[in-house]
Amino acid sequence: MESTTAVMDAPRYIAMHPNDNVAIVVNDGGLAQGSEFACGLRLTERVPQGHKVALRDLREGEAVLRYNVPIGYAVRDIPRGSWVNETLLKMPEARSLDGLQASASPTPRLAPLDGYTFMGYRNADGSVGTRNILAISTTVQCVSGVVEFAIERIRRELLPKYPNVDDVIGIEHVYGCGVAIDAPGAEIPQRTLRNIANNPNFGGAPVVVGLGCEKLQPVRLFPAGSIPTEEGDSCVVTLQDERHVGFGSMIDSIVAAADRQLARLNLRRRVECPASDLVVGVQCGGSDAFSGVTANPAVGFATDLLVRAGATVMFSETTEVRDGIAQLTARAATPEVAQALVREMQWYDDYLKHGGVDRSANTTPGNKKGGLSNIVEKAMGSIVKSGSSPIDGVLAPGEKLKSGQKGLIYAATPASDFICGTLQLAAGMNLHVFTTGRGTPYGLAAVPVIKVATRNDLARRWHDLMDLNAGRIASGEASIADVGWELFTLILEVASGDRKTWAEQWKLHNALALFNPAPVT
Ligand code: CA
Repeated sequence: MESTTAVMDAPRYIAMHPNDNVAIVVNDGGLAQGSEFACGLRLTERVPQGHKVALRDLREGEAVLRYNVPIGYAVRDIPRGSWVNETLLKMPEARSLDGLQASASPTPRLAPLDGYTFMGYRNADGSVGTRNILAISTTVQCVSGVVEFAIERIRRELLPKYPNVDDVIGIEHVYGCGVAIDAPGAEIPQRTLRNIANNPNFGGAPVVVGLGCEKLQPVRLFPAGSIPTEEGDSCVVTLQDERHVGFGSMIDSIVAAADRQLARLNLRRRVECPASDLVVGVQCGGSDAFSGVTANPAVGFATDLLVRAGATVMFSETTEVRDGIAQLTARAATPEVAQALVREMQWYDDYLKHGGVDRSANTTPGNKKGGLSNIVEKAMGSIVKSGSSPIDGVLAPGEKLKSGQKGLIYAATPASDFICGTLQLAAGMNLHVFTTGRGTPYGLAAVPVIKVATRNDLARRWHDLMDLNAGRIASGEASIADVGWELFTLILEVASGDRKTWAEQWKLHNALALFNPAPVT
């Protein structure tokens, strides 16, 4: 990456690769017609911040290169100094999934990074929590009002008795009944719910609330042994049970089950854990052209540090990596991983095709306003969150990491912020890193979410929502490595409970959103 000058107010652009024939304007508020860069390039028209300027004359049909990748083809001649926006680009076809394989010369492993630890809650299954939370799982949406009522009482009456427990939360969703429960794809929401109940932050002690007549019966959601509880079925409350006479008795049953599980959770203590026990999910949302220049490369740097420290890092968002599939398969640690990557891309291509769309349905009006012309450009910026190490494994949507599975993992999920977060929770994430350029107050109740701003302007305006400002990379105040190390340190502090994220401080969280590709009835 080259920056024309480090002076703050002078016109500046950032090109990502020496071969690029466009670059993005850095200055807050954009640049007026006639603005001149240090290299002598002069704008022929106004260019908004984060939008592309032609570095040289482009001929009609010529590939427009960013990240040294064709993000589109010029629909007409574009003179040097012009604003290159989405209306001037014809988007390339997605690369075929045929003939992709792991590289013959595998991506080298990075040097190990030893000596980093955090204070976490170690669980019986070997996983480690970063928070100590009672989860109330639900089999069906019908019970959610009752659960919400019970949670208020648990917060008020029980939590003060159990000072080592951080919170009680409901795993609420709209699945469970009125669904084709045996249809292809229906296993995804079901395993997601099962695996979320086993998230490391819940300490193997969830309460389960069901209705009684729903398709997703508790025994189907949690077959024997799938919740590591010592007390068997005593953590399952069924509202239609004959023992329940009146609403009050249902609430009493849930509160009693919660009391038993809270007593167990309250015995948990933080112990020193190696950084290798971290399971970090990375994601972006509300992206702009700076996402792939500042925040995502800094996350990629931190990803490399975490992988070097032996941790697990998951990256996701299938529609946002589809255009980089050849880069990913080339980084696969084994031929099986390359095949699994192709399998997940193919499944998603088919899923989108069935809905009559393709990956181009991903980009939002805000993405375009922020300078991202299309999904190819967005994908190149999104994929850098994965850093540079070999890809060690692939999870299908809703699958859980195998015990002890480490390294860089592709957890296949839609790019939808809520669905991606939900599926990464199911995979076993104990901390989430989320980058944003347009700005989103995104949060999750189950794990801390560290939010990284892509621009100084956003970090300034949303000073009490953004945990880290990567915009300093664009303004030349910090390097990608500087911000990457800051993020790594922040991850250890937040994981240890020494520091709360802004979303935790304000108790902001989004509803969980299951991915259900199967029919409803
Ligand atoms: Ca996303």
